[in-house]
Amino acid sequence: MLNFYPGPSKVYPEVRNYLVDAYDEGMLSTPHRGEQFVQMSRELVSLVKRRLNIPQDYYIFFTSSATECWEILTQSLTQHKSFHIYNGSFGEKWFQYAQKMRPKSEGHAFDLNSPMPVPELEVSPDTELICFTQNETSNGTQVTPNCILNLHNKYRDTLIAVDATSSMAGLNLKMIKADIWYASVQKCFGLPAGLAVMACSPRAIFRAKQMGERGHYNSLVSMYEKMLNYQTTHTPNVLNLYLMKRVLEDRPFIKTIDLELTTRAQELYAFFAQFTDFKLLVENEDVRSKTVLALQGSEKLVDELKKRALHHDMRLGNGYGPWARNTFRIANFPAILDEEYEELKRFFLHYYA
Ligand SMILES: *Cc1c(COP(=O)(O)O)cnc(C)c1O
Repeated sequence: MLNFYPGPSKVYPEVRNYLVDAYDEGMLSTPHRGEQFVQMSRELVSLVKRRLNIPQDYYIFFTSSATECWEILTQSLTQHKSFHIYNGSFGEKWFQYAQKMRPKSEGHAFDLNSPMPVPELEVSPDTELICFTQNETSNGTQVTPNCILNLHNKYRDTLIAVDATSSMAGLNLKMIKADIWYASVQKCFGLPAGLAVMACSPRAIFRAKQMGERGHYNSLVSMYEKMLNYQTTHTPNVLNLYLMKRVLEDRPFIKTIDLELTTRAQELYAFFAQFTDFKLLVENEDVRSKTVLALQGSEKLVDELKKRALHHDMRLGNGYGPWARNTFRIANFPAILDEEYEELKRFFLHYYA
């Protein structure tokens, strides 16, 4: 079965052998305060930084999901409010979570075909955290490096947090331009679900210490204190941490991966522009995601197309949120091979050209 679902997505085939290695090396029952775990965790932290081009002085944390990161950031970095800029379901959900805990939080929605409207934003000075989604998995849009730079320059004194769940480990993100970046691993990392990585700048940690929020098992200060020793506040997903270490060891530098994905994205967009039964959901080329393509057609067509693909052993992504029924999505993730896209293209040419 070929899997083009944008999460949970195809895992690297090597994971199969790494699972056996984890068993053989005793990783599955190793104590999370013991030497074996700490050594693995220490190596993993340094590998994550090197492979993903994360600034040396940023702190790495492991959580169970991107959703958990939403909650950690609100509880541990805001006392009054955060400000959310979004154009799709994941960004909006993050805003809603924040609002439940900090009702004064504010949101600014923008159009699918527009760049993130940095010049229009009015973020009040008492805002503690500015939040946006770098790659909106629900509709296949992205916030460009240039927009991120403009946001960074406009709000230098405010912490900026970025949900990069469907782009981290795929794109060469300029992490220095924001304070917090996180992603769960079932997208571009090519790993099974149940783990997320979060990188925090020194000033984000400074702020967490200043706030001193310790009311939760996953309070950021407690996580920070444990991580000084490469440990977690609770028993972590040791197996997935091990798999991440093994997978990252094999991967090229992120610049190379970014270049390959960017080229392949251009080819896929050019390919999918030729059909008449369905069209690319995002018309503005500048804001099209490099890692998730969204295609729009009638509900009937989309339904039939997904079923037909399944019949040919190919899983396409369902639409999401408001686009659930009239779009389908195709992941452009590093674990998926060029040959697999060739097969996908043959399928579309055969039935829809
Ligand atoms: C998938 C996804 C999430 C949710 O990830 P979980 O691991 O289920 O918490 C959040 N944000 C974005 C942008 C996503 O693509």
